[in-house]
Amino acid sequence: MIIANWKCNGSKAMTNTWVNNFLTNYDETKKAFIGIAPPSIYIQRLLETELNKLAEINIGSQDIDISSGARTGAISSDMILDFDCKFSIIGHSERRQLFNETNEEIKQKILKIAKKTITILCVGETREENKNDQTRDILKKQLEVVKDIELNNSLVIAYEPVWAIGTGNTPTPNNINEIHKFIKDVVQSTSYNSEYPMVLYGGSVNQENAKSFFKEEFVDGALIGGASLDGKEFANIINIFNETN
Ligand code: PEP
Repeated sequence: MIIANWKCNGSKAMTNTWVNNFLTNYDETKKAFIGIAPPSIYIQRLLETELNKLAEINIGSQDIDISSGARTGAISSDMILDFDCKFSIIGHSERRQLFNETNEEIKQKILKIAKKTITILCVGETREENKNDQTRDILKKQLEVVKDIELNNSLVIAYEPVWAIGTGNTPTPNNINEIHKFIKDVVQSTSYNSEYPMVLYGGSVNQENAKSFFKEEFVDGALIGGASLDGKEFANIINIFNETN
């Protein structure tokens, strides 16, 4: 599974160029689940492109709100389902840091969509927490949001160390592998139906380093920010994933 998170980037013109560059470079002989999460205002536009002819390509949302109604600026879970979104990213560190999102709100969001579409829950420690050897404790705390929730195999975890996002720094592939195994075990032992989730790695993945992560046993794919803004590079990363798996 390879997911693009465009964050707050894009334009009508960029969308057209992106789709052309992607389709020219994507090798569709193997069909891993591919997700693209544009800013929500561009979801419809992407759904109307040639991408829609490829069954393995799924458009998703970068977030949902906890509710609907008098909540200016928000987008509800029913709205993204109405637009045929096949997944939603929840709990991204930028939502936690810039929008003060709490674990409690993240849990409410998961409850809204977990049974209806794929939920990609982002977890990850800060640089300081990493330095203080608190990574496992922090992840355990963040993963409490799935405790006792019935998930119907819809949950995917993205391990995204905050210090690796957009910085060019990453943990070693071996470190990532160990943390992914830890995450799988924690979710299995705490979720209602003992789910053993897919775990994606996110944080400065690009076409140069992707292979080193994809070779690891417990790395089930990647969530990609910066490098997903170029349709060609995103396609190359998927091709590398498909060759490695
Ligand atoms: C992200 O923010 O989800 C992310 C992985 O960003 P980048 O690839 O730019 O580090």
